[in-house]
Amino acid sequence: MKVKKGDNVLIIAGKDKGRTAKVIKALPKELKVLVEGINLKKKHVRPKREGEKGQVVDLPAALDISNVKIVCPKCGKATRIGYKTEGENKNRVCKKCKQAI
Ligand SMILES: [Zn+2]
Repeated sequence: MKVKKGDNVLIIAGKDKGRTAKVIKALPKELKVLVEGINLKKKHVRPKREGEKGQVVDLPAALDISNVKIVCPKCGKATRIGYKTEGENKNRVCKKCKQAI
């Protein structure tokens, strides 16, 4: 999967379209990512102890990978990712500035 935890991504679809934020979790099996502060869904949390109140918290829901684009840390543009193999390493490269990211 091209998007990894810690990448900055631009949201290109949905209600948070146009925002950029950091990937907090990649879910390769589902081809989804969790992005900080994006696609928040209300979630009810049950009280952990007796006497405590349940809470409603905003938690990010996974986004389809096709709805985000990586923002290259080198040139700052939303870009597609290519791969370049050097010896045993397969590096991700920005299609715009050709730098390894
Ligand atoms: Zn770049």
